[in-house]
Amino acid sequence: MFEITPEWTIFLDRDGVLNREKEGDYIRHVSELQLLPGVTEALSILSARFLHVIVVTNQKGIGKGIMSEEDLAEIHSALLQRITATGGRIDHIYHCPDTAADSPCRKPNPGMGRQAMHDFPSIDLQRSVMVGNTLSDMQFGRALGCQTVFIESNKPKPEAPHPWIDLHCQSLYAFAKTLIKQG
Ligand SMILES: [Mg+2]
Repeated sequence: MFEITPEWTIFLDRDGVLNREKEGDYIRHVSELQLLPGVTEALSILSARFLHVIVVTNQKGIGKGIMSEEDLAEIHSALLQRITATGGRIDHIYHCPDTAADSPCRKPNPGMGRQAMHDFPSIDLQRSVMVGNTLSDMQFGRALGCQTVFIESNKPKPEAPHPWIDLHCQSLYAFAKTLIKQG
């Protein structure tokens, strides 16, 4: 596995990696935000090991008019609060509200990664990893030239080995634990 050093950045998908997904629906309200088991522990480990911890999330429920930017802001502020209260850190959450597949910020397109590089010039994509639970996340990581980690969820499981996936893990916590083993 790739070796993580203190210059590394981690990009995290949100739904299915940090919080439980709603089958065929969006997390529309803060009351629906349920962190997955081990996520707070994982974030506390990852925060100590990565220079930047960045969330990149497609939220087309906004573009569809199902939820508002304010609803999302409330959800993200609750997410940040829970992570910070348990010793973790998220430096920024980027979201793409667009519905069109060709929107440059909608994963798998790399726009949110490019925006992060603009905002955090010390991001080194050669020393970055993208963690997600869909092939679209893996494609986003590959488009930026990052390492990729596929987290298992209720989403279809791709074949292994897969050209877009460097590592499969059962959860974000399982990935964090592999880093502890690295020493
Ligand atoms: Mg996801």
